[in-house]
Amino acid sequence: MKRAIIVGGGLSGLTLAYVLQQKNVGLDISVYESDDRPGGKIWTEKNEGFLCEKGANGFLDNKPRTLELCKILGIDPVRSNENSKKRFIFLNGKLNALPESPTAFIKSDLLSWRGKLRMLLEYNAPKGPDDETVADFIIRRLGREALEKLIDPMTSGIYAGDPYNMSIKSCFPRIKELEQEHGGLFKALLKIRKQKKQHLRAVKQKEGDSKVSVAPGGTLTSFFNGAQTLTDTLAEKLGTRLNLGAEVHSITKNGNAYQVHTSNSTVEADIVILACPAYASAGILKDFDSDLSKPLSDIPYSHVSVACFGYRKEKVGHPLNGFGFLVPHIEGRKILGTLWDSSIFPNRATEGYALLRTMVGGAKSPDIAMQTDEKIISMVFDELKPILTLKADPDMVRIYRWQKAIPQYLLGHSAKLKILDERLKAYPGLYLAGNAYRGIGMNDCVENGYRLADEIIASLST
Ligand SMILES: Cc1cc2nc3c(=O)[nH]c(=O)nc-3n(C[C@H](O)[C@H](O)[C@H](O)COP(=O)(O)OP(=O)(O)OC[C@H]3O[C@@H](n4cnc5c(N)ncnc54)[C@H](O)[C@@H]3O)c2cc1C
Repeated sequence: MKRAIIVGGGLSGLTLAYVLQQKNVGLDISVYESDDRPGGKIWTEKNEGFLCEKGANGFLDNKPRTLELCKILGIDPVRSNENSKKRFIFLNGKLNALPESPTAFIKSDLLSWRGKLRMLLEYNAPKGPDDETVADFIIRRLGREALEKLIDPMTSGIYAGDPYNMSIKSCFPRIKELEQEHGGLFKALLKIRKQKKQHLRAVKQKEGDSKVSVAPGGTLTSFFNGAQTLTDTLAEKLGTRLNLGAEVHSITKNGNAYQVHTSNSTVEADIVILACPAYASAGILKDFDSDLSKPLSDIPYSHVSVACFGYRKEKVGHPLNGFGFLVPHIEGRKILGTLWDSSIFPNRATEGYALLRTMVGGAKSPDIAMQTDEKIISMVFDELKPILTLKADPDMVRIYRWQKAIPQYLLGHSAKLKILDERLKAYPGLYLAGNAYRGIGMNDCVENGYRLADEIIASLST
């Protein structure tokens, strides 16, 4: 029986291990996780009646794989409350609801008239190069105001990143594809809308007058007991195949077999999958192949801290009637944004209380994320106080610090991936997995886990 070792027990490694186990292809699978808990960046903690997410708080339900995985695992996803569809941007010193339709957008004062008219020119903007920074792409197509007020906070919200050096192709591949396929974003939207209408008409004709159920758009989805339900369940299904507190230091190769070295053991494997952060994989491969290790160590990470504030509701003047808000950098604030977690999902706070989760740091202000707890708490409080009309100190506070939290797909990321793919051809049975390469969302980690499982299984028969 061939032996496979997966290094890293975050969502990527656990999904891959579980899918391989399910396929029952005669592989002896083990996961080596350095921490004493599985889950990596997915980590839910109960504190004084509040359910705090240290990292990810959910996934969008518009990609089927994670939902499919939940079904197989027998866990029930929970969709975000209807109320939380309303999202806000903190702009011009106040919270502005994000318009939900083009008409509402035109009527809103989110952008100046000049900025809105500039956006209309997108229709005739020429196609850009194969890749460029997020900022260059948006300025070229939609104008600088759209970048600063709309796309910059979105890049912060997802990557805690800087649009001026991130790659549009790697960070927002669908947006770049729409430009390449349809010649522009508005052109693409019009075509997609037309196709959707035609599809709906066809379905209606087929089904008579019965109600047509349109596939759900992206609704944030988690679990009653938090995002960790998914990784805990995967870990439970893997049982003794998952080794905790097992940090892999290096690998070597002898003939066709790899030797995986931890501080107290060396284990032989036919297949090794490094599903840990890129910088950790770089360390493991340092003495194995510097041509593999170097591009891995060149993938930077942003530092992020998460501040959870729990409040009795009457101490918060704002109704918290929505998802939360993001802050564009032009506002000159220190916080990246705040999610109103107890307004999004049930069971995040005891009745009568609210849970606010604020992100600080990111690629533009990495030092802020690594300040002392006291400094972060007072900074977040000072910034939130006028925005949400906070009337007192929070009843519960937790600060979660993530050094090297989120990989940054900078301009040139796809070229780095090509170099890695090419170099890996020299090492049959050695693979890279995880969020450092082709998507950082929980959905991406799950989808890529399934994809890699297929690739590994295909390789067994060659
Ligand atoms: C603050 C924050 C908020 C986020 N919010 C969301 C969100 O709302 N929705 C969403 O979809 N995504 C979100 N993400 C992103 C998402 O959580 C991650 O991309 C995803 O969980 C990464 O999973 P992974 O398994 O690829 O990596 P990781 O979770 O980093 O797992 C890698 C594992 O490898 C282990 N490891 C490292 N070195 C070694 C070694 N030498 N030997 C053995 N093991 C090792 C680590 O301990 C870790 O457990 C968020 C991320 C952060 C940080």
